[in-house]
Amino acid sequence: MNYEIIILDSHTASKIAAGEVVERPLNAVKELLENSLDAGASKIILELVSGGTELIRVTDDGKGIKPDDLHRCLERFATSKASCVEDVYNISTYGFRGEALAAISAVSDFTIKSARSGFEPSQLRSHFGKVSAVIPAAIDAGTQISVENIFENLPVRKKFLKGQRSNEQEILKFVKQLSFHNSDVQFIVSYDGKEVYRTYPGDSMLDIAKKVFAEDRLVYVEDECAHSDSGVVRVRLCASNPAVQRKRRDGILIGVNGRVIKDHALTQAVVQAYHRNIPQGMYPYALVDISISPSLVDVNIHPAKAEVRFQLPSLIFSAVQRTAGQAIEKFNVGRYDLEPE
Ligand code: ADP
Ligand code: MG
Repeated sequence: MNYEIIILDSHTASKIAAGEVVERPLNAVKELLENSLDAGASKIILELVSGGTELIRVTDDGKGIKPDDLHRCLERFATSKASCVEDVYNISTYGFRGEALAAISAVSDFTIKSARSGFEPSQLRSHFGKVSAVIPAAIDAGTQISVENIFENLPVRKKFLKGQRSNEQEILKFVKQLSFHNSDVQFIVSYDGKEVYRTYPGDSMLDIAKKVFAEDRLVYVEDECAHSDSGVVRVRLCASNPAVQRKRRDGILIGVNGRVIKDHALTQAVVQAYHRNIPQGMYPYALVDISISPSLVDVNIHPAKAEVRFQLPSLIFSAVQRTAGQAIEKFNVGRYDLEPE
């Protein structure tokens, strides 16, 4: 036989696949934090060294992993969260594809330590995909994952990484937003041993929004509408006084069912709500948290799940626009396009 087409060996295939799931330190951080949330953590600690390229460590107090499952969680398509395609379309957890840990452990020096109640605390190391045996670990509860020297075995990827500061900034922006959408979970972030962000167990969404934007002129509004096809759509939103006027719209942040997403239309819903109260080309701060039935949002259209597709986009759009309008009313400010009397 004289084939021109070859089948990649599994080690090469997983290194290539890994590149699609984890492109930058931010992607690894996002996957690890989402796993901690899925594990029911109430406290999550994120430590970075050198913007994540030397070390990303996530420690949680979630339910932990059984020693027998430790090897499995590094395999591709290994998940405890979905067992069929229907599950994926009705998903309430962040993860479901079982690809993240497989990908991250293929491109880093990876250590996972975990304690599940009733089982011996255990740990496992994967040195750029070469997995060692499970051994006992010194950990009381929850899970700790350390990712060292990420992309060291992918020199080209490593060369194209952004600098330390820009990795740190994009990660902090993401974690801050995630902490808003998960205000019942405590988040602590440190860079090179120095604490840079912390939420507290009793923090309200408004407390967190003030920390996120370093801005006090914000209100909290909540709106719920029931719809025959969609069940209840709940929008919780913290938005700024129209007196706060920013040149960029990157202070309008959207999340759905606890997930940080990018959605141009919903950003526009906020912009339109403010349009009579803020000069054109200026933008407010807003953190928008939407809760809807998981069956009405498809999170499986984007590899990093950063974009989602709504089944009733116009319903969500008007719910967000209306809620943002209520925020403006709370400030009771005059319309920008009216002449003063
Ligand atoms: P997914 O999240 O899509 O299931 P991952 O590769 O991210 O896939 O994780 C694989 C599995 O490892 C998860 O389904 C879960 O069972 C387990 N796991 C990963 N991280 C944690 C954690 N922090 N706490 C408990 N279990 C975890
Ligand atoms: Mg996951």
